[in-house]
Amino acid sequence: MDGVDVFEMQPLEVTRLGTKADPIVVRSFAPLRQVGCTGFPVDSHDTIWLNLTKDKRSRCPECGSVYSMDFQGKETHHH
Ligand SMILES: [Zn+2]
Repeated sequence: MDGVDVFEMQPLEVTRLGTKADPIVVRSFAPLRQVGCTGFPVDSHDTIWLNLTKDKRSRCPECGSVYSMDFQGKETHHH
């Protein structure tokens, strides 16, 4: 398939732990993407893939880091 961004399948390198009040914001051009969390500091735990959607935050069950999507794409279900 063309246009697959390999970088989307790399774990994130976070500089802090996301919290409910101040989540890690992940920019995405798709309304759903997977986020690879390795904790903070990076590689604190094995990579855990979280499904992040534009409407819902994701919380890593291992380190508790909270992720939120900054949706950059266009809505496709409108006419
Ligand atoms: Zn984690």
